[in-house]
Amino acid sequence: MARVVLITGSNAPEAEKLLARARRLVAERVGAVEKESTVHRSRAWGFEAPDFSNQVLVSATSLAPEAVLDAVNAIETALGRDRQRELAEKAATGQRYASRPIDIDILFYDCEVIGTRRLTVPHPLMAERDFVLDPLAEVMRDFVHPTIGKSIEEIRNERRKS
Ligand code: ADP
Ligand code: MG
Repeated sequence: MARVVLITGSNAPEAEKLLARARRLVAERVGAVEKESTVHRSRAWGFEAPDFSNQVLVSATSLAPEAVLDAVNAIETALGRDRQRELAEKAATGQRYASRPIDIDILFYDCEVIGTRRLTVPHPLMAERDFVLDPLAEVMRDFVHPTIGKSIEEIRNERRKS
């Protein structure tokens, strides 16, 4: 069994409902949800859009990392994510990101460091994003980031000082 840490996010009007459905599908298809943060709301990051809601889930899984990615991509599709539409929106707005009903990213997979064509774990931008660090600190504040070598709490405190 591995412990995989996921972050779900949505900026749809029914975000809370989508996060709840995503949580249920993660429990069914990835593995039992052992811990979950509260839902955090924040401003859209990197593009102009309605506020986002995010939740961190810790799941005990028997899936390999790339199989977790396949499972979360399938959950995104089941909840209405349409990557073709997003590409069209990005082209039309010139922005780097597009609205989506649900996004599920892999933050950690045990203490593994993974760099394949499809998967970078730990998620590379998490240490710069309060909307990741804040819910993450609720469920695993003392977890030491495998490449940064500092706990989630230490990473957050250093961000606050800078
Ligand atoms: P973003 O999450 O950056 O807003 P997408 O959800 O469209 O954008 O993801 C783009 C690609 O990121 C996916 O096709 C996936 O292969 C890749 N990816 C790399 N590392 C990760 C990770 N840790 N978690 C989720 N996706 C990842
Ligand atoms: Mg994603």
